[in-house]
Amino acid sequence: MAFVLELEFKSSQNYIKNQIIAITREFNLPSKIENHDDKIICVFDSEHVKFQECLESISQRLPASIFLKSSSNYESNIEVDALTPIKNRLPLNLGICPSCQKELFDVTSRRYYYPFISCASCGGNYSFLTQYPYLRENTSFKFVRACTACEEETQSVGLRENHHINSCHECGIPVRLVNKSSERYANDAGSFRTMFEVAAKALKDDKKLLIKTTFGYRLFYAHTIINNESILMMINASKITDYLSLITEEFNALLSIERPILYVAVKNEELKGLLGANTSYAKYPDEGFSILLGTELQKLGVDFIAYEEVDENCDADMKMDYDLEVNHQSDMRLFLNKDVQFIAEGERVSLPSYNLRAKNILSVAEDYVGIPDGDHMIFDAMEHFNSIKVLGANVLAGDKKIYHANQKYFSAEEAAFMSVIAEHNLFTKRCIGAYFDEEPSFLYYDMKNVLCIVPPKKFDSSNLLENMRALREGSDRLVDNIKNKMPKMYNKLEVLEKREDVKLFEATAIILGLEDESMRGLVKEAMKFSGKGGIQMDTHVRDNRFDNLAFLSSIISYQFADVETPILAYSIFESFGDYFNDILQELKSKTKATEMILCGTHFANQSLFSRMQRNLKATPPYMNKDYPIGRENAVVGGVYI
Ligand SMILES: [Zn+2]
Ligand SMILES: [Zn+2]
Repeated sequence: MAFVLELEFKSSQNYIKNQIIAITREFNLPSKIENHDDKIICVFDSEHVKFQECLESISQRLPASIFLKSSSNYESNIEVDALTPIKNRLPLNLGICPSCQKELFDVTSRRYYYPFISCASCGGNYSFLTQYPYLRENTSFKFVRACTACEEETQSVGLRENHHINSCHECGIPVRLVNKSSERYANDAGSFRTMFEVAAKALKDDKKLLIKTTFGYRLFYAHTIINNESILMMINASKITDYLSLITEEFNALLSIERPILYVAVKNEELKGLLGANTSYAKYPDEGFSILLGTELQKLGVDFIAYEEVDENCDADMKMDYDLEVNHQSDMRLFLNKDVQFIAEGERVSLPSYNLRAKNILSVAEDYVGIPDGDHMIFDAMEHFNSIKVLGANVLAGDKKIYHANQKYFSAEEAAFMSVIAEHNLFTKRCIGAYFDEEPSFLYYDMKNVLCIVPPKKFDSSNLLENMRALREGSDRLVDNIKNKMPKMYNKLEVLEKREDVKLFEATAIILGLEDESMRGLVKEAMKFSGKGGIQMDTHVRDNRFDNLAFLSSIISYQFADVETPILAYSIFESFGDYFNDILQELKSKTKATEMILCGTHFANQSLFSRMQRNLKATPPYMNKDYPIGRENAVVGGVYI
């Protein structure tokens, strides 16, 4: 007899499956564990003497995951008589799993306070990869000789079976903590503990601490000196909701094994004052260094701290580092509301991946590459691969390098759109969609090719004032009015004219007078608006394309009418939501498309997205699943262009 456990898991990555396999192997329990259409199907031998014990262990130790949804179970008479083999081909960077977390704080373990703690399916594995195949000799651990205990562990069943970068205090990496006058080293449990104690005290004394974490360099500091780049690191799980207003889904996501960054509502008044906003980026400690630092800070009564991702040259009062190469991956930022979740941006967890249907070509977009391997494609940073033989290369436009004699080009928006088609296997459906990363554009897929039917109109600020005057009748009066009555604004526009490569939403933020002159600043401002409806902005279309000038002029006109900035910022997104809907509906009926797609990182915005959701209720849009909706998806779509 067999017991079948079905877990709904909406990702192609294997870390949750591998945790289950590793635990069944530990108990020597015959099983068959496989992925099928967004499900992990686990068949266990229910007559085995260790069956109950193993099942309990899985339920206690399996990490929470943002991709893990419902589960169900049933009995079956399938025969299972062997252990499921474990495959560990692509290293990821994940949070620390419950088993490793327990070991990290177990005084009797070999890894008590060892910040490099990880197993085959948790922690910073990818960080240390130099090239494929993933083996110890192809990582920065090749110079670190594993001790006998670690070696044996790597050879035995369990979570560290085939864990290529296995190490402990005995064989692992010494870390140094340097400040202006002294230097200390840690190489065993006691000295590591003291080092984190010292570091935590310094932070409490308002010092800035630069740490080479297993996810790259992070600058930690007290929340009182927070800036636009800062992310709050919530240390004390039991007090997170004292400071932040979270829905259950957000709280669970923060503590999940993926440990994403979330954009959340702030509850604490002091914090709102310091942020100059009622929203912030937040995350829960994810990797060894951050977790150990957090633990020591919590002992000092600190509930949260701020940090930002930086490079090694960043100025700090204290620096904690070690001699080992680390690959930095940009962090995962998750967008979440009650019904929908998607990855807004970032490489971590999405890459590397082994996924989708193989094609005998190379896809190249920025630093990423997609290469065929068996039935599927591998997507990752190019630097880890050697050359391979393929029939051609699809390359993101603008890249001047020649990768193949047979090379064709694609645009970022075409590739983003195609990545959603590939992820949801919509190749046999007519699809219409919008791409929003700076200037909006609209695309159509006719079951063969992707066509950019409304291309983006690149924002050009060089003749801004002159062009505004010529916009329509009466526009010259608006510009004269700005000059006479809003000299500061006029000055800002003049400055914009002289600057090169100004982005549309950067210009918008500048016109609104926001301190954070970016899309991020605009989103933050919109979140301050607590009313119901906004005002109508000019998001009209000229020659079938979004009219940047009409849009900016409309904002300025409202400023003349003393409309407050939060409502204006909010209205921008509400109007954009309506604009996208209008064009999508029109194109849908013209093309007879049946499916709708949204892509581009600017859709990761509560004000805009809730409007889109409301507007598109009848045809809920498809979005990326395993990959970010942002620019990282181009390499994926590039394969199928
Ligand atoms: Zn682990
Ligand atoms: Zn060891």
